[in-house]
Amino acid sequence: MASSAAHVPGPNPQAIARYSAIIVPLIITAIVGWASYVTIVQVAVYRLLQRYHQRAAAIAVIVLYSVSLFMAALCYLRLLQTVWTNPAYLPLGRTKADERRRKSRGRIRRKLRGKHEREAEEGGHLDGGSDVTANDPDLGWGLEQHAEKIRNLEAFRPKEVFVCDYEGMPIWCEKCACWKPDRAHHSSDVGRCVRRLDHFCPWVGGVVSETTMKFFIQFTFYAAFLAVFVLVTDAAVLAKDRHNDYGTNAQLAVLLGFSGLFTLFSTGIFGNTLHMALSNLTSIEAINKGNNTYHLSVLVTPVWYRGDTNEYPFRTTSYPGAPGATYAILFTHPGDNPWDVGWFGNLKSVLGESVLDWWVPLRYGPCTTHDSLESDFPMGKAVDDLKKEAAGF
Ligand SMILES: [Zn+2]
Repeated sequence: MASSAAHVPGPNPQAIARYSAIIVPLIITAIVGWASYVTIVQVAVYRLLQRYHQRAAAIAVIVLYSVSLFMAALCYLRLLQTVWTNPAYLPLGRTKADERRRKSRGRIRRKLRGKHEREAEEGGHLDGGSDVTANDPDLGWGLEQHAEKIRNLEAFRPKEVFVCDYEGMPIWCEKCACWKPDRAHHSSDVGRCVRRLDHFCPWVGGVVSETTMKFFIQFTFYAAFLAVFVLVTDAAVLAKDRHNDYGTNAQLAVLLGFSGLFTLFSTGIFGNTLHMALSNLTSIEAINKGNNTYHLSVLVTPVWYRGDTNEYPFRTTSYPGAPGATYAILFTHPGDNPWDVGWFGNLKSVLGESVLDWWVPLRYGPCTTHDSLESDFPMGKAVDDLKKEAAGF
């Protein structure tokens, strides 16, 4: 595409990302194809089987290599397919026509300056948990956003515990015009709110979220296993060749270098991904995790009443979607993760209950179901303690 040299001094980063999304997998496929040839033909057949007559070792290398490569490819394809078909986007609360109307109203408003805008700025500041800041040059915008949020409040159905802003309001995404359930975040890469968003992955051209996290973990596991397996067998056969005065084969030596690099890279990613799954954290939640504080809106149940007084030591609120119910606005202690249900429970929430689920990339993890009226994701001990503290027992 032609571009003006006057104000485009560097290459367009989005174009680089687009090309790298095509070129990087091609390079990886070429390397994997060549590594498969060296491992199966050069290592297993020529050396282990023909040169050293180690039939069992040759078969073991071929089988283990093929199975783990097949599983890695299967996980990658399942990841890709899920990114395309079920990426866990939240439904948009606004149609394209609404968007056009809103923008034209914004343009008219921009022409009107004065007292109204100053009030609007104050309105904008009330949007504690929203994505668009009140620093918007169009001051009328803030009031409009606030009004839209209030209009939509009736449609909000609160669970017994959910993340809210400091005033107890559920979290609103102004770009998608929707209520954000717990752990959902707006991804600027795809322009949508995504449930349990982890990160945008350029390798699959989409977001790793609650539906894709399981396949991502499985893929990184098989890829790391493959890299370590190739490194170890290649190094063992190279050592055997030297020991038997066959010298050093160039292809095996190059493969040793590649598999060493891939081992560092893939075990690092897998180790980090597994660590996050064990702690039930997304990449977003892990940022500043030691100081993270969540505002939670918690349903006040009859057992919370003490004596005949309704004087609570916390602020309360209510929602039109839950008539008659009182909610306490509580704050978690800094660094507490409300969704931490213990390492085993955390891992099962992503991978599944059965051992087969852990290894095979077929079913979605339990963290994708949100039928419970209690909360979007099971809450752990931190929330139980918080409730006990607030209820005073
Ligand atoms: Zn959004």
